[in-house]
Amino acid sequence: MTHTTIIGAGAIGVSAAYHLAERGVDVTLLDKGHAAGETTGKAGGLVFSQLHEAPDVRAMGYSIDFFRELSELDNHFTYHEVGFLRTGTEAERPAFEQEVSMQREEGADVRLVEPDEIRDIYPPLSVEGVTVGTYAPDDGYADPHTFTTSLLDEAKAKGVDYRPGAKVTGIDSSSTTTVETESGSVQTDVVVIAAGPWSPQVATLADVEIPVKPYRAQALVTTSVDFDIGTVYDAHEGVYFRSEQSGGLLVGDGTEEVESDPDEYAQTADFEFLVEMSEVVERSLPVDDAGIQNAWAGLCTATPDGRPLVGHPPSRPGSDSGPDDVVIAAGLQGHGFMRSPAVGKAVSDIICAGKTDYPEWSPRRFDEHPGDFEIEEMLKLDGKHPNLI
Ligand SMILES: Cc1cc2nc3c(=O)[nH]c(=O)nc-3n(C[C@H](O)[C@H](O)[C@H](O)COP(=O)(O)OP(=O)(O)OC[C@H]3O[C@@H](n4cnc5c(N)ncnc54)[C@H](O)[C@@H]3O)c2cc1C
Repeated sequence: MTHTTIIGAGAIGVSAAYHLAERGVDVTLLDKGHAAGETTGKAGGLVFSQLHEAPDVRAMGYSIDFFRELSELDNHFTYHEVGFLRTGTEAERPAFEQEVSMQREEGADVRLVEPDEIRDIYPPLSVEGVTVGTYAPDDGYADPHTFTTSLLDEAKAKGVDYRPGAKVTGIDSSSTTTVETESGSVQTDVVVIAAGPWSPQVATLADVEIPVKPYRAQALVTTSVDFDIGTVYDAHEGVYFRSEQSGGLLVGDGTEEVESDPDEYAQTADFEFLVEMSEVVERSLPVDDAGIQNAWAGLCTATPDGRPLVGHPPSRPGSDSGPDDVVIAAGLQGHGFMRSPAVGKAVSDIICAGKTDYPEWSPRRFDEHPGDFEIEEMLKLDGKHPNLI
């Protein structure tokens, strides 16, 4: 039986731990803090199949089923299947049409909607300036913290050895593989690097370079409103919002397309972000003066082509091959929570079966290191994405 050590107990690491334990693998799960204590705990919780690339849409099919199944177990987790609407103008229509056709081919229940239907779906939403949208009734939202801790309970029940407060300081694969932490070392067969924005740093401990850059994204929760809105992405403004359990609205984007240091970034939201988001909320919804209950910033992780890195790492500099005792699960852009069930399964497929349903995500596509690259938020439809006009 392969012993696997996972570094990072965010949604990705916990999902990998669960999927491996389900297949009988011995797993040690290490975190420098605690489960969902970093990026995952700051995510907006949006869950949607309306993504730009076919593998991601397939991944969301698996993930949505997984969220539903976890919801049915005896825990605190709920998947809110309230649908997800993207709104746009004629500028977005060709991209919407192109994407809906691909998403439907991949099995997602998505359709193009016109303003009259948008009014019926979410009556409080203003359709002024909106001429088209896309809608998927199976999409929705979930609380990323509750997801991760509930799944961790399931993983522990299957035998996962979870060690919070265990910062990894070294990975030595000279003879047997040893992971060193501030509170002792672990002998293992395979190391999974699922350290979110710290993944490039942790990878260097294994003498591996991965093309991942952390970048800031922001979110806020307004004071209570007296309506429900489901989940909406305004593709023209590049802003998303949804009803929050507290009664307010969770509003987000504020993406800063520059690299940030995970140990030294501004974790509070920018004043300009609060002002801009309040204006969008007041324009789109029956809210006169949006009060702010809470606001924050966290770090997403970009790759050169916007696709995740899930698999064995690229070649070490100056060598023909990368190590087979290391698996990377990082670079999830701003969509890592929603794809975490599929990513965790892919990690278990790589370790248990030597292959995955997502060869497009292999880090070995960067065997020739891509050098410097620009950070791009993949949710936007502004013509940057290779699949879009
Ligand atoms: C404001 C905001 C909104 C977002 N909204 C959404 C959304 O609506 N939907 C969505 O799908 N995604 C969203 N995301 C993205 C999502 O949060 C991430 O893609 C996802 O949480 C990444 O999970 P992770 O497990 O890779 O990383 P993390 O949750 O950061 O977990 C990594 C873990 O590794 C640990 N670690 C790091 N270094 C070490 C070390 N040396 N030793 C041991 N442990 C270590 C950390 O303590 C941490 O717990 C959002 C992100 C932000 C910032």
